[in-house]
Amino acid sequence: MTSRRPADHDVAVIGGGPAGLMAAEAAASRGARVAVFDAMASCGRKFLVAGKGGLNLTHQETGDALLARYGDASPEALRAALATFDTRAVRAWAAGLGIETFVGSSGRVFPSDLKAAPLLRRWLERLRRQGVTFHQRHRWTGWNGDALCFETPAGEVQVNATATVLALGGASWPRLGSDGGWVAILEAAGIDVAPLAPSNCGFEVRWSEHLRTRAAGQPLKTVVLSCIDERGVTRTAPGDLLLTEYGIEGGCVYALSRYLRETIAAHGQATLSVDLAPARDTQALAEALARPRGKQRFARHLERASGLRGTRALLLYETLPDAPRQDAVTLARAIKDARLALTAARPVEEAISSAGGVRFTALDESLMARAKPGVFIAGEMLDWEAPTGGYLLTASLATGRLAGCGATEAARVTR
Ligand SMILES: Cc1cc2nc3c(=O)[nH]c(=O)nc-3n(C[C@H](O)[C@H](O)[C@H](O)COP(=O)(O)OP(=O)(O)OC[C@H]3O[C@@H](n4cnc5c(N)ncnc54)[C@H](O)[C@@H]3O)c2cc1C
Repeated sequence: MTSRRPADHDVAVIGGGPAGLMAAEAAASRGARVAVFDAMASCGRKFLVAGKGGLNLTHQETGDALLARYGDASPEALRAALATFDTRAVRAWAAGLGIETFVGSSGRVFPSDLKAAPLLRRWLERLRRQGVTFHQRHRWTGWNGDALCFETPAGEVQVNATATVLALGGASWPRLGSDGGWVAILEAAGIDVAPLAPSNCGFEVRWSEHLRTRAAGQPLKTVVLSCIDERGVTRTAPGDLLLTEYGIEGGCVYALSRYLRETIAAHGQATLSVDLAPARDTQALAEALARPRGKQRFARHLERASGLRGTRALLLYETLPDAPRQDAVTLARAIKDARLALTAARPVEEAISSAGGVRFTALDESLMARAKPGVFIAGEMLDWEAPTGGYLLTASLATGRLAGCGATEAARVTR
């Protein structure tokens, strides 16, 4: 393969995650000669890891409710991608691969067997039958003129393609293949990239030694978290909170990660409020706590009046160290609004996903880079952000499809 001869492929897809594979499917099913290149020895590694705890493939939300998950002002191209390939389409597509899905209690959609591997296996088989070729251990390093350059175990290889889809993922969990190494290459090509940042991630809290040694690793079941975002809107998320050596993790923390990260970036820290007794209101709690304590120890009184004990009580003492000397109303308020000072998001390498990426203003409505005609961008490397719940895979698949269609059209026009 050299850069001098005519195109080796109509469409080169670089990155064999869900976005790239969907781009390859869209292009191949429209008659394009498609080659997929991936840095790793096999495709879809992050997809497989996503399946470990039960693959949350998509969600049952549609329309505006679905779009709202991608922020208050989701870009037009993302809207278009999700309008033509929404959560219902994801389920129909999986069914087309023989993978039935079911809706879990929170509206999340899973394959019947909860696994990612059977779906990926069937998908790759179908792509091969459609004529898609796979080139593993091909790490894309940039362009030489119009040629795509790859590092391979056999040395550098250059490939010509009429159109290209880049679906290189974000920067979380880099050992699975996506490491954000593409940022510098795209910026050098004049493509505007918003800095990659951790999303759906844990946060750091400066715990006292007392809490760290007693509570790290302990979950707090069913609390409600809330914070005030940079526009003054209160955001809440119920769920289980995990206290760690360095701070906090858990689905409810991830759900607020965007707002917390933005506040830390603007002010150096963010305040997170934890409702330690969501089933009780402040007044009822205050009345119960005001009952005479008699000879009871404070911890016993607190437990009987509010249900707080163990890690939950430890978190109260952490935020209100002189709790035993406080009046009932102050105590009740502190239980409903235990305030943690978050100092930093955990590194992007540990996050479930990354925010930032290629800005939509750098792309046209078919996801083609304005500064690099014939090059389309898809998946998590785009500048959108969403909570967990199947929304990440849904947008990766939808933008992959849009980019694959655009690349096929571009290849047809150029041929
Ligand atoms: C632990 C975990 C659990 C998750 N669970 C879920 C879930 O249940 N539901 C959900 O919706 N989302 C989940 N996600 C997120 C979801 O997996 C990602 O959003 C999705 O995989 C992104 O797809 P993508 O194709 O854009 O990128 P990726 O899946 O990251 O694929 C990018 C591909 O590009 C390749 N690549 C990168 N750089 C180069 C290069 N220079 N040259 C060649 N190839 C390169 C990589 O090897 C990789 O194969 C989870 C993520 C993690 C980490």
